[in-house]
Amino acid sequence: MFGRQVLQPEIGRKPIYDSVYNEAGRSQSFLCANCNTRVALDVVNCMGRNSHDPESVLGPDQGKHVREHFGILSKSLANGWPFLSVASCPACGQDHMVYVALFEPRNGWQQAVQQGITQLQPSNPAAQRTASPPADL
Ligand SMILES: [Zn+2]
Repeated sequence: MFGRQVLQPEIGRKPIYDSVYNEAGRSQSFLCANCNTRVALDVVNCMGRNSHDPESVLGPDQGKHVREHFGILSKSLANGWPFLSVASCPACGQDHMVYVALFEPRNGWQQAVQQGITQLQPSNPAAQRTASPPADL
């Protein structure tokens, strides 16, 4: 289910987005695991309505695997609050699981950074391998 790791979680990774000092830092990006195209990521959106916790991003039966994969094991928030989402490459459609960590130094002051990015293998490989590319390619 998990493919290549594009970004490995790292304890102590510094937040980039800062709601007080670096609002522009919400625009982050990573390179597609399949075709190396830069995939834009708005970390504020990654923590918004379309975000999930580890138990819901790929379904409740995968929660344990998601936590183990990214090392989100404890309830401790020393490494930030985990937000999970899925981002697709605009060029090839490759899905990636995105783990954004949120820190709140004080009430209403938010900092965030992408903490883990992993290529998602299609749950049914045959379905995607046989799909034909869009006609205009
Ligand atoms: Zn791609």
